[in-house]
Amino acid sequence: MRDPAWAWEEIVLACALVEQNGRRELREHDPATVELSRLLQRLPIHPPSVRSGVFRSPGSVSRKTTDLATRYPGYWGKPTRGSKKDQEVVNAFVEAPEQMLATAARIRENALTGRLHKLLPVLDEVEPEEVSAAEGRLLYLIHRTRERDPKLRKAKIRQTRTAGRPVACEVCGFDFGRTYGQRGADYIECHHIVPLHHIGESVTRLEDLALLCSNCHRMIHRTRPWLTPGELKEIVENRR
Ligand SMILES: [Zn+2]
Ligand SMILES: [Zn+2]
Repeated sequence: MRDPAWAWEEIVLACALVEQNGRRELREHDPATVELSRLLQRLPIHPPSVRSGVFRSPGSVSRKTTDLATRYPGYWGKPTRGSKKDQEVVNAFVEAPEQMLATAARIRENALTGRLHKLLPVLDEVEPEEVSAAEGRLLYLIHRTRERDPKLRKAKIRQTRTAGRPVACEVCGFDFGRTYGQRGADYIECHHIVPLHHIGESVTRLEDLALLCSNCHRMIHRTRPWLTPGELKEIVENRR
């Protein structure tokens, strides 16, 4: 039985070890290899029914770090086997090492708190265009879950009212209450403007949320890179 291919999130965790090890592979008995092996075995990404007896063993983790280390630019030998996804993750680490280490830390943190577990059933709802190779689906889902937090939305609406501003789309001005009457009163969506790799570092600040109508929110997330509300507003205003 062959083990399932490595998921993007697993590759990011392995590549973070390589990066922190001076872009070199890690041996099977290295404590960091053993620790990652345990973590990957606990991750709920691949169901037990598809795992072999050596699923993500320290040996297989070590081999993955070799595959990744040999794909860095400047590596003197031939790359070992490995996938297109491996190369994409290595490229992301080369382009933005700090951001990718932060992304790995977010994945790790969410794996340990069990939050990843809850998000897996909705993984397939994500359109590939909404997700960038540097962030992956799980972090995106955490972002989305946070945006949909009813407590945050209520707090943001309250703050907007207190400041004397209308509860309307910050991009196009659409006001659900004005169009739909009682049924639309107080309806608005929240968009979180902080980059995904920062998610989890701190609690969401109300200043980091933008109020948007459903159409404008969808247009921001439609393809990567996401637009800022200001950029979308410019498009909308130029077309009027
Ligand atoms: Zn709008
Ligand atoms: Zn959003």
